[in-house]
Amino acid sequence: MDQKQYVICLDNLSTGSIENVACLLEAPNFEFIQHDVTLPIQAEVDEIYNLACPASPLHYQREPVETLRTSVVGTMNVLELALRTGARVLHASTSEIYGDPEQHPQPESYSGNVNPIGVRACYNEGKRCAETLCFDYRRRHGLKPRIARIFNTYGPNMRIDDGRVISNFIVQALCSEPITLYGDGQQSRSFCFVDDMIDALTCMMSLSCDIVEPVNLGNPTEISMADLAQRVIQLTDSDIGTRHESAPPDDPRRRRPCIDRARSVLGWEPATDLDQGLTVTIDYFRDLLRCGRMDAERTTDVAAGTSPASGMLRYD
Ligand code: UDP
Repeated sequence: MDQKQYVICLDNLSTGSIENVACLLEAPNFEFIQHDVTLPIQAEVDEIYNLACPASPLHYQREPVETLRTSVVGTMNVLELALRTGARVLHASTSEIYGDPEQHPQPESYSGNVNPIGVRACYNEGKRCAETLCFDYRRRHGLKPRIARIFNTYGPNMRIDDGRVISNFIVQALCSEPITLYGDGQQSRSFCFVDDMIDALTCMMSLSCDIVEPVNLGNPTEISMADLAQRVIQLTDSDIGTRHESAPPDDPRRRRPCIDRARSVLGWEPATDLDQGLTVTIDYFRDLLRCGRMDAERTTDVAAGTSPASGMLRYD
């Protein structure tokens, strides 16, 4: 952390973990405040990263109304804070605003294919509304929020019960359990390592020019879930197979960012390939399992009715 900056980390800890910032808690220029973004925020700030919202389908579908409230009311609170303080806002949007895309890869000009009444709508419609708010505060109040559309991101500090595919597959492989492939496994995603994403976000915040249009941030290398399972099996040196489960409703079939705008506006592109990122993430989960943090979270999983090894979506 830059010593010249004072950082306030605001989190309601609904899915985040205080352990992820434990090493910063003693720092003189870091402050943690447990607070829900849906409640008004009082702080003197000059930059705001609006990253609030559960991002895993397992978590955002568990409390759908809260998910919507976080994106809509939370973003309004952030924009009001920016109006009061004159702070620069970077709003974290998502590739989910493209829904189940009919255009491939997805450029920022694509307006998406979203089911407004499906189980994913609390997340993707909430995020679409948050983008609308950013633009209406720009038109109405002259605010200049920056909108990053983040594609699937992974890496160390994910929860064991996060429920998204990379953590599920790695935890299953390390526990010698079969890998759960939803549907036929031919659906694709493009995965960005967390360090690359942080570089992109800080770069986007630091540019002095106005960034009016949303910017896709992600790694354009696309992989099917069946192939991802094989990568994880190989990199963990596991002797396990796969198990098919039904596909979740509205599960996008293909997703891949067009990052031409990120390249030209930010001069950014991801530097970490999938095998490198997976290797670091596997080491992180291996350590976590060794330390026994898994036991506590597994107990929570069982209590919540999810899989003992990892987070699983259930629609029954
Ligand atoms: N997926 C899977 N097994 C799992 C978890 C997810 O096959 O244990 C699939 C899921 O159906 C989707 C893809 O992996 O097609 C990515 O899912 P994730 O929840 O990571 O993110 P999102 O769907 O939001 O992109």
